[in-house]
Amino acid sequence: MVGRVAIGGGAPVVVQSMTNTDTVDAFGTALQVAELARAGSEIVRLTVNTREAAAAVPEIRERLSAMGLDVPLVGDFHFNGHKLLAEVPACAEALAKLRINPGNVGKGARRDEQFAQLIEIAARYRKPVRIGVNWGSLDPQLLARVMDDNHKRAEPLDATGIMREAMVASALESAARAEELGLPGEMIVLSCKVSGVQDLIAIYRDLAARSDYPLHLGLTEAGMGSKGIVASTAALAVLLQEGIGDTIRVSLTPEPGGQRTREVVVAQEILQTLGLRSFVPMVAACPGCGRTTSTVFQELAQDVQDYVRQRMPEWQLARVGVEEMTLAVMGCVVNGPGESKHASIGISLPGTGEEPVAPVYVDGERVTTLRGEGIAAEFKQIIEDYVARNYASRS
Ligand code: SF4
Repeated sequence: MVGRVAIGGGAPVVVQSMTNTDTVDAFGTALQVAELARAGSEIVRLTVNTREAAAAVPEIRERLSAMGLDVPLVGDFHFNGHKLLAEVPACAEALAKLRINPGNVGKGARRDEQFAQLIEIAARYRKPVRIGVNWGSLDPQLLARVMDDNHKRAEPLDATGIMREAMVASALESAARAEELGLPGEMIVLSCKVSGVQDLIAIYRDLAARSDYPLHLGLTEAGMGSKGIVASTAALAVLLQEGIGDTIRVSLTPEPGGQRTREVVVAQEILQTLGLRSFVPMVAACPGCGRTTSTVFQELAQDVQDYVRQRMPEWQLARVGVEEMTLAVMGCVVNGPGESKHASIGISLPGTGEEPVAPVYVDGERVTTLRGEGIAAEFKQIIEDYVARNYASRS
């Protein structure tokens, strides 16, 4: 459990995200956490890199609680986590989980000592720990040892194999050490993040085969825009389809002026398109072609998609199961009526040269025909009526 959120043990795969505000700015960070949580992030991670950042964490927690948000916060610690948590106990208390990178805990004998301090604090405050290995900060001593061992193998691994083995070994050995130090196994989550899709798939398959700890999946440094989305989806879809992964984060670089919440939407869409969870009604839309020469169809598809996402928080509070509703917005008569009939509600707009009317289908039956300027507004009202009629009230 991380706060009120269960990870692993057959629980639904959890969506999480991370802030990019300065944690010292408690007001700004609380606002971004709230945005991420309202977009659907079930856990939010914060950088805790200085004493001031650690001191800001309790205030962030209080501000969120004042907004009615109990989203669990995870502290991301590198290099000085043992000191920060010892010096600011209120930080440890306010967090729901600690993320420790075994490659950045310290060097040599100090590594073991500082790792032990972190685990002792986690055990004392009953905080789960994610042991988060990252290939950009792999423990150099462990890598050297894996390379030495590799020379003794009958069939030595190549450089890629060594890197993958070192990552898995770092996670498993750190988890075993944490258990020896008194942290119960059910309070440990593992991750091994890399930026290559094939590396990630191979590493997590190995990790899943060699341990029972819940796994946090994510491609690190996935990138920006479509590249980041495609790479994350390609990697996560393969693993999730195999039943590997208990919580996911999509590490998208926001485009200038872009919204941080996009990574949450993408993570939800990965899970929903795989049929693992439902978050918001899905809108099917055709790509358009030479039969649709106006932008009306694209605009309506966008409008409907934005509308259901914006309305979902209220629907969710008031009604049961609205996220299962499906919608179709189609460009012409070729596939429009057929696709629309398969959706809860579908609309088939007129293609070029077709009669300027838009038949609407509800649960496979043609119920009305829309025309003129008010199509978007009337279609949204049909959606609202459908929600009110078909999904039980929570009150
Ligand atoms: S439904 Fe019509 S407009 Fe859409 S892609 Fe197919 S033929 Fe083109």
